[in-house]
Amino acid sequence: MSLQIREERVAIYPGSFDPVTLGHIDIIERAAKQFDRLIVAVLNNLSKNPLFTVEERADLLRQVTAHLPNVEVDIFRDLLANYIRQKEAQVIVRGIRTVSDFEYELQIATINSKLNSDAETIFMMTNPKYSYLSSSVVKEIGHFGGDLTEFVTPEVERAMRLKFKGNGRE
Ligand code: ADP
Repeated sequence: MSLQIREERVAIYPGSFDPVTLGHIDIIERAAKQFDRLIVAVLNNLSKNPLFTVEERADLLRQVTAHLPNVEVDIFRDLLANYIRQKEAQVIVRGIRTVSDFEYELQIATINSKLNSDAETIFMMTNPKYSYLSSSVVKEIGHFGGDLTEFVTPEVERAMRLKFKGNGRE
């Protein structure tokens, strides 16, 4: 009798998630069905001026993915190509909304495969319901006190209100 040991399929969904939107959650839920484990990895990026700290972003992600048992949230400060090796993941998941997303994502995916030939990037098309949605749009609406219920979960909306209040916006 031969014992078959199947390799666990692990995917990483990296991003800024500043903050997580319903568009991200849709990708997370769909990707979680395709893999044994999905690691949502918050990038500590150097170039952007974030609203939330990486720890706050990871904390919000943990709250909004609590219903998904095979999803975990992590923070990474390394090159993605190194990070996926460290996590023994095979796949990088990214979402595509527009043609301009595609051009950018193609460049990043090519660089990642050059840095780590085992890194396979898989693109998931946005749910048309959320094709217009980005963290920056959400921050802009939040900044001016607009209604966020169609874009983020109630816990994210609450966290944003507190941030903008802290900044003296309300
Ligand atoms: P990054 O700074 O790495 O682009 P984001 O948090 O903005 O981080 O996005 C992470 C990933 O999620 C990217 O692949 C992005 O294209 C995808 N994404 C963001 N918003 C949506 C959405 N509404 N629908 C589908 N994919 C999305």
